[in-house]
Amino acid sequence: MQTIRPRLRAARILAAAVLLGAGLMAVPAATPSSARGATGPLPDCRLDDILTIPRGYDDWQHTLVDWIFTVGKSYVPPDLVSLSRAGVTGGGQVRKVALNDLKAMAAAARAHGTPLGSVSSYRSYQTQVSLFNMYAKGYGFDAAILFSARPGHSEHQLGLAIDFAAAGTSTFVSGTDRTGRWLATNGWKYGWLLSYPEGKQKVVCLNYEPWHYRYYGRELAAKIHASGLTTREYLWQNFTAVDPTTGQPLATPTPVPSPTDLASPGSSGDVPTDSPLESASPSPGVSAGETPVPSSPAGTLFGLDPPALVAGLLLVLAVVGLIASVGLRRRRPGSGYRR
Ligand SMILES: [Zn+2]
Repeated sequence: MQTIRPRLRAARILAAAVLLGAGLMAVPAATPSSARGATGPLPDCRLDDILTIPRGYDDWQHTLVDWIFTVGKSYVPPDLVSLSRAGVTGGGQVRKVALNDLKAMAAAARAHGTPLGSVSSYRSYQTQVSLFNMYAKGYGFDAAILFSARPGHSEHQLGLAIDFAAAGTSTFVSGTDRTGRWLATNGWKYGWLLSYPEGKQKVVCLNYEPWHYRYYGRELAAKIHASGLTTREYLWQNFTAVDPTTGQPLATPTPVPSPTDLASPGSSGDVPTDSPLESASPSPGVSAGETPVPSSPAGTLFGLDPPALVAGLLLVLAVVGLIASVGLRRRRPGSGYRR
């Protein structure tokens, strides 16, 4: 009995260390990469062409476009699907990530007696060029800029925005008609939020648009709704990671990437690229098309984050301990390990 005991004990220690090590290795080392958030106050509404960060196609929830920030010319969502698949009239396309919730929202609106249609949904960069030029020509640039986004700056280019109408019509909903009121009350429950609310022009830069909704997913939409902030403020405060003046990426406060970040090809791999000529970004050192990739963080060794290092160390210690205990038993039988 007593000759087996020490080995059993060592084996238990080893097993515990292995379990602990495996557990630690499985724990993400940091918060999600997209949860960076800007420092400093919301930038004033001024016209600029700073490439927004994040803007990877997988970062769709967190991508801010406004008067300042752009996704650039080459941004084309990879998963556009027809709005008709969601039971919304009017044609057009939306990203597939929004389809299920749009479908659920359309069904609920229909059940309420206010079925949904669309006037406009996904618009390419080129379509926005034509549209904005037409408005600028017809109304003058200074007026147009208050109700139409410049190319590259439109939420429609993200494939996440819809200008809603009552089904079967091509007239925007208002803030007072039944469909518009239903959307204003219920949209957020399905992940859709009004981008340009009434009385917020100074904050969101565009005039009140009771028809223009953008999709965020139910969870984030509920958070933004509860915050009482506009979507521009919320994205800026929580996710936008670029200096609004220099166009430089903001330093991340927690520079340790989690294993999921490293594994996900979308976090930086599918960021649309842009011609440097396109952006009017005044930053001298960084070309506008440059894709910001998180550099190897300072806190890692051998490419391992701290929990993985600790886990590895525990494993080594446990094995050394086991070998030592077995060796001890062989040299001095009958001694030690007695309670
Ligand atoms: Zn719109």
